[in-house]
Amino acid sequence: MQNLLDLDADALIAWFAERGEKPFRARQILHWIHRFGETDFDAMTDVAKTLRAKLKETACIQPPLPVRDDVSSDGTRKWLMDVGNGNAVETVYIPETSRGTLCISTQAGCALDCAFCSTGKQGFNRNLTAAEIIGQLWLANRLLGATHDGDRIISNVVMMGMGEPLANFDNTVSALKLMLDDHAYGLSRRRVTVSTSGIVPAMDRLRDECPVALAVSLHAPNDALRDKLVPINQKYPLKDLLAACRRYLDRAPRDFVTFEYIMLAGVNDQDEHLRQLIDIGRQVSCKFNLIPFNPFPQSGFQRSSAPVVRRFSQLLNEAGIVTTTRKTRGDDVDAACGQLAGQVKDKTRRTQKRVVPITEVRS
Ligand code: SAH
Ligand code: SF4
Repeated sequence: MQNLLDLDADALIAWFAERGEKPFRARQILHWIHRFGETDFDAMTDVAKTLRAKLKETACIQPPLPVRDDVSSDGTRKWLMDVGNGNAVETVYIPETSRGTLCISTQAGCALDCAFCSTGKQGFNRNLTAAEIIGQLWLANRLLGATHDGDRIISNVVMMGMGEPLANFDNTVSALKLMLDDHAYGLSRRRVTVSTSGIVPAMDRLRDECPVALAVSLHAPNDALRDKLVPINQKYPLKDLLAACRRYLDRAPRDFVTFEYIMLAGVNDQDEHLRQLIDIGRQVSCKFNLIPFNPFPQSGFQRSSAPVVRRFSQLLNEAGIVTTTRKTRGDDVDAACGQLAGQVKDKTRRTQKRVVPITEVRS
């Protein structure tokens, strides 16, 4: 059985072509699946009966299964989605006055092991399929009550849930293409954001294949500290990362990269860090998003104080770098950034792999 959620428009057209069906049929089906949320081929009334019968035999529309639904006092909603074999990932909906943002996961766990991240601490099990990635948007639309063609409860999508999207490149890009497709979700590319810890070659591929908005998890302004906080920096150091950011913006000079920077008390919130950040901010067309650290058990870090965060924001803005501070949402249901743990059967023997004890990071 082919799960049709796994196929973006081009793949669905190719799948239909192999079965002697025209491209417009594929687009019709895409519309039924993603805009109407239909899973029953018999309900697709403008599709020929013979084709419906064929589809029933060979295909299905199967999103992940929600196993938990938590609503925060601030309206943030978090779902735990079963992705089989004892793994479950989290999807978060953040309602705001002028928009609704869905935060999507791309992997069960994450292998990159950033020091401050609860997902990283869980270890890694596997990449999500394209169906499991787009299925989170499909399902959230249904669970939030979208019933009509083109209902826009979710106006923005951020790939900032569990996992590193660019380490699951092909499936992430298939899902991104569906988000942008007019027969599916029709979101503009500026309303879809991929957040990466900085996998440089994959950033170049994303620029070529699907240049959506880019957020980069910076978190440290020099290589010595970033090597410890975001270990992928040992492979792709800051100089290469910043060059990749500039290349990403080459063809869209009015775009910018958003640098995410978690404020960790006594670790990356000192004056020298601020100076280095301003220097980085002048090398790339960018905005900064300061993120108050969200604690989780045994993280070993503390959130920078509010005055320190305010000072960073003020001085970055004064240096001409647009800087915002992320509001913490949904922390009463562990739905805030960095708190998503889901259920991950670790395959990595993580504890033996860790080489930098957290205490050293602080010295
Ligand atoms: N792997 C990608 C996307 C998922 S992480 C990446 O790292 O960019 C999404 C965001 O949450 C990142 O900016 C990440 O650094 C941040 N984050 C991780 N742990 C956090 C924590 N404990 N508190 C606040 N934000 C955190
Ligand atoms: Fe993975 Fe991102 Fe967490 Fe780092 S911050 S461990 S890359 S999910």
